[in-house]
Amino acid sequence: MVMSLKSKYNLCVIGGGPAGMMAAISASLKGKRVVLLEKNKSLGAKLLLTGGGKCNLTHTNLSNKDFVSKFQKQGDFLLSPLSVFGVKETMEFFKELPLKVELDGRVFPKSEKARDVLDFFKKKLKENKVKVLLGVETANFQFKDGKIEKVVLRDKKEIFADNFLIATGGKAYGYELPKSIGHTITELKPALSPVQTKEKWVSILKGLSLRKVGVSLNKNKSIKGDVLFTHFGLSGPLILNLSERIKPRDKIFIDLFPDKSIDDLNKDLLSLFEKDSKKTIKNILSGLVSSKLLDIVLNFSGINKDQISRNIKKEERRKLIKNLKKIEFNVVTVLGFEKAMVTKGGVSLKEIDSKTMQSKIMENLYFAGEVIDLNGETGGFNLQMCFTTGFVAGKSIF
Ligand SMILES: Cc1cc2nc3c(=O)[nH]c(=O)nc-3n(C[C@H](O)[C@H](O)[C@H](O)COP(=O)(O)OP(=O)(O)OC[C@H]3O[C@@H](n4cnc5c(N)ncnc54)[C@H](O)[C@@H]3O)c2cc1C
Repeated sequence: MVMSLKSKYNLCVIGGGPAGMMAAISASLKGKRVVLLEKNKSLGAKLLLTGGGKCNLTHTNLSNKDFVSKFQKQGDFLLSPLSVFGVKETMEFFKELPLKVELDGRVFPKSEKARDVLDFFKKKLKENKVKVLLGVETANFQFKDGKIEKVVLRDKKEIFADNFLIATGGKAYGYELPKSIGHTITELKPALSPVQTKEKWVSILKGLSLRKVGVSLNKNKSIKGDVLFTHFGLSGPLILNLSERIKPRDKIFIDLFPDKSIDDLNKDLLSLFEKDSKKTIKNILSGLVSSKLLDIVLNFSGINKDQISRNIKKEERRKLIKNLKKIEFNVVTVLGFEKAMVTKGGVSLKEIDSKTMQSKIMENLYFAGEVIDLNGETGGFNLQMCFTTGFVAGKSIF
């Protein structure tokens, strides 16, 4: 039976991303009548982009305490909801997909297709009789007796419900709805953004991923992780996670051999040069450094790539080691919201009850997902936060 738009729902979820879909399913599993409103013509547009289309949906092998540390100082807010719907429960929820766990703890659908995760959500929404309305943008709330009575859509249609849940995502969609209730929106900044560098030569390396290299920002201690070259600069998990701390004119240094000291690297090179004394330097090093990057490092070191290794002078070797251990990049800028994976900032945590995700300002209002002032590192943390807050919010509706 098709319900009319005026029929009363127990819950009206605004936003059909991962947080909103999870909240709608969670409430419907408790027998609630739920309507889900999405302004796009389809659900989960951003979900389809996640993990480069593969969807890194959570991160396993961490205690809840270590998990929340990935959300900086705001993370503790998640301890309570994670104890109700954490990584284990998420893996159980998606087990039909099925899932695969990478060595570093990241979890993906086995098919490596974000589309399968979205299809799974759609199936669950259908099974649980959630009414999904697409292409409907919520314009504002209307109130009665100190509570939200209904939402008004852009086309002036109205939807009545006992409870409302805002899961409208980050900066791209604005924060008008929570603001209209009187909620504080903390300072908004792009987070998990790639970096544009002065060095134009990076474009030659576009798509090259460096595994477990060392990265230091200015004079800070080096951190180990993965870096990706883009046509304008640097990206990849390590750079994205650092991006909030990077400013224009900062320097980023990449160490291709973070586990070796300069002395160790010198010894290794000497023994390689001795062993293959008639081979070219490029030939010898090509197993250790990707070919295009090697050309650049050799060029910086003033060494012809076709030079025979036994002819490499001590000074040339010294320069080569320096460049292998410290490739310098000058930051032009960290890209803005249009390239950021998530928004830092959002509805203040002080105004949300972490046990229920209920607004402390409006009794029949709940929040879930990126719209809240919570943003984590890359690695599946942000989607898990959406699933956790969405599930707990949906479950808490009465
Ligand atoms: C390129 C990229 C890759 C990413 N990869 C990963 C990853 O692999 N793992 C990970 O954990 N995280 C990843 N993220 C982050 C992740 O996508 C977000 O954390 C997540 O999508 C947030 O979910 P959400 O439901 O809160 O918001 P969204 O996914 O943004 O969904 C909000 C929805 O609300 C709708 N909406 C907004 N306003 C209204 C309105 N007024 N009325 C009706 N509907 C409205 C929007 O159209 C949208 O569909 C990635 C992000 C990007 C950009």
